[in-house]
Amino acid sequence: MKIKIINANILRMVQDEGVITGDLAISGEDIAFIGKVPDDFVADKTIDGSNTLVIPGLINAHTHTPMSILRNFANDLELMDWLTTAIFPAEDRMDEECGYYGALLSMIELIRSGCTAFEEQYMFVDSIAKAVFESGMRANIARGLVGDGEDEGSLQRLQENIDLYHKWHKKGEGRIHVDFGPHAPYTCQDGILKKVIEAAESLPDSGIHIHLCETQTEVKGSIEQYGMTPIERMEKLGLFEKKRVVAAHGVHLTDRDIAIIKKYDVNIVHNPSSNLKLASGFAPVAKLMSEGINVALGTDGSSSNNNVNMIEELHIAGILAKAVAQDAKALPAYEIIKMATINGAKALGIEEQTGSLEIGKKADIAIIDMSGAHWYPQTDLIAAVAYSMQGNDVRDVICNGKLLMEDRKLLTISEKDVIDKIQTLSKKVLGQI
Ligand SMILES: [Zn+2]
Repeated sequence: MKIKIINANILRMVQDEGVITGDLAISGEDIAFIGKVPDDFVADKTIDGSNTLVIPGLINAHTHTPMSILRNFANDLELMDWLTTAIFPAEDRMDEECGYYGALLSMIELIRSGCTAFEEQYMFVDSIAKAVFESGMRANIARGLVGDGEDEGSLQRLQENIDLYHKWHKKGEGRIHVDFGPHAPYTCQDGILKKVIEAAESLPDSGIHIHLCETQTEVKGSIEQYGMTPIERMEKLGLFEKKRVVAAHGVHLTDRDIAIIKKYDVNIVHNPSSNLKLASGFAPVAKLMSEGINVALGTDGSSSNNNVNMIEELHIAGILAKAVAQDAKALPAYEIIKMATINGAKALGIEEQTGSLEIGKKADIAIIDMSGAHWYPQTDLIAAVAYSMQGNDVRDVICNGKLLMEDRKLLTISEKDVIDKIQTLSKKVLGQI
């Protein structure tokens, strides 16, 4: 299909170009023209971009989509308490159907907040992949892995991750990628981590998606048990050596940890809402970025946030980074938007395909309605994206050249069916039936 967006403001996220005005044309899956579209380009569909801002689809680089089913369950607890007393028992009552509908519920929110791609780590990955396939979104999916690498459970989970790769990697017109998901240093012993490294090395284009240095308790425990910080331990095991690593959180880091992250080009995913809600601490985002480390943005799961609205996350990340650095000049608006676009694409290993609007890249696009009062006066549109934009400003979303939302109506997911189903399933998960 050929689509033309006309009379728009376009923020391509290419160097420091800023906002340009003009048209954008899509041919099949790809962006064909930006700015001026030749007269002989005949579009099947023309979208009026007047008073809109066309931006790259946002990328949520760390989430657990089925956890939407646990939204607003077990609040006001710190991480370890929250996991062991509330989340793990509820997760035991979840099944593939919960995984599928939970993933779709999150995808409704993601698309509505302008997101076209995400990095997943959870259970029920076959159902998540099916949901991604149907939704038209782009995703890297990793099976959450825990244990010692010897017991039957940990081996079976690893095998599920390998099977997922063979079944889904590069499927859905190439939208689906499969990574490996060792949960965290405190839930993974050396044995399983070594097996993950081996498996990832044997499968091309797969990366490793792990939680790292989320809380002080985690770092303290690692030093007590191993005599090393979690980052030092992962380096020693060789986790950073050969594959793309997506490390969620990176809140509590020593200078030596930061040097290791930099040395191996580890991607850090900042999850400000989750870190604030679980009182995990304050990630040194501006410091990491000034060191040249790739920092992407994530929402984490809906049960520690409690939503996956990437525009809200963008805003919180921007203002929080300044407070943490105690410097209003830290992390300017453009850098904040980079975290949610091109930096996210780098973390997912898909920067050749998406993360910016460029001719030849895949057409992953959010069209933002700028008619709301909070957009006026229309002066600095980059500052407006970082500090004023609201989730419901997203009007249309295109992923891989296909419209997923038009005039705020979802085209690939039946919102009502998913909401109805989730309401019933949640009763089972929360032990109410
Ligand atoms: Zn997480």
